[in-house]
Amino acid sequence: MSDATHTSEEITLARLSSGVSISTTVHVYRGDAADDHPTLYVQAAQHGREINGTEVLRRFHDRLPLESLTGTVIAVPVANPITFDHVSYTAPAVLDSVNPNMNRVWPGDASGSLHERMAARLWTYIARADAVVDLHTGSPDMLPHVVFREGDERSRELAEAFGTDLLLSEAADEDASDEWHNRGFSGKLRVAAARNETPTITPEISHSRQILEGPVEEGVDGLLDLLRHLDMLPGTVPDRTQTLARNHLGRVTATESGLFRPAPSLAVGERVSEGVEIGTVYDPTTYEPLHEAVTSHEGLLYALSQEATVTAGDELAGVALIRET
Ligand SMILES: [Zn+2]
Repeated sequence: MSDATHTSEEITLARLSSGVSISTTVHVYRGDAADDHPTLYVQAAQHGREINGTEVLRRFHDRLPLESLTGTVIAVPVANPITFDHVSYTAPAVLDSVNPNMNRVWPGDASGSLHERMAARLWTYIARADAVVDLHTGSPDMLPHVVFREGDERSRELAEAFGTDLLLSEAADEDASDEWHNRGFSGKLRVAAARNETPTITPEISHSRQILEGPVEEGVDGLLDLLRHLDMLPGTVPDRTQTLARNHLGRVTATESGLFRPAPSLAVGERVSEGVEIGTVYDPTTYEPLHEAVTSHEGLLYALSQEATVTAGDELAGVALIRET
């Protein structure tokens, strides 16, 4: 007879100037022998428009066979209520002008800016976890994939167990590029947790703002397989054929501002060679082509922007450098 339990509690993440509390709900699933088995922490929607992860956790709640669970699962479906309510990626400057992007501040600071305080409160759960999953979604027209720290074998095993067709390894800290540091990526939850010796993955389960049936189901199945991998649920993780590639190196960015028309012949999921035309940025008033964007590496085209209005520096496409299939 299992004595597994599900409890939930509302916690305060931070206070607004008015005194209003920002709170969210933390779900705790305690299985048998919880103290002798791992704790998995999973959160969604720290970027509040990325709501597929929230839907994944709702379905996970219904499908988790609690009577078969060993160990503990801690789930936070809305890690950032501020950006969730704004259906946004970052918080309005009036609320956090120092750190508008919550995923640049981990492990947070209990006496810092709004996002730093919110992260520090959630970090009290993350610091106790043996594995961490930070659910995100990417831009429109992007292959679902899982990101993990390059060279971190335990995180790679989590990524493989989660089960998307594409896995992306990302160099971090001293192995990373100047751009990686300049963009504040060392403050990502995944990076901070891995630095804390906790294996961590970031699934990017398709794109923002919409609940997409296929990717959401893939996310629920991924979490259940992850629990099997951690021996927290019975059963084995199926063998899969996955493509392992490297993140970021093959990004194509706009060199000019204007309207971007992606090349109509291209589709995400295609293998591309170096120098392939991915689209044109043009001046919307004069029609003059300003930037003929081409790939800088060969690899797998896993993202191609469909958002036409671009500013110089925006990412137009992602090409993953394939390491293994
Ligand atoms: Zn995100």
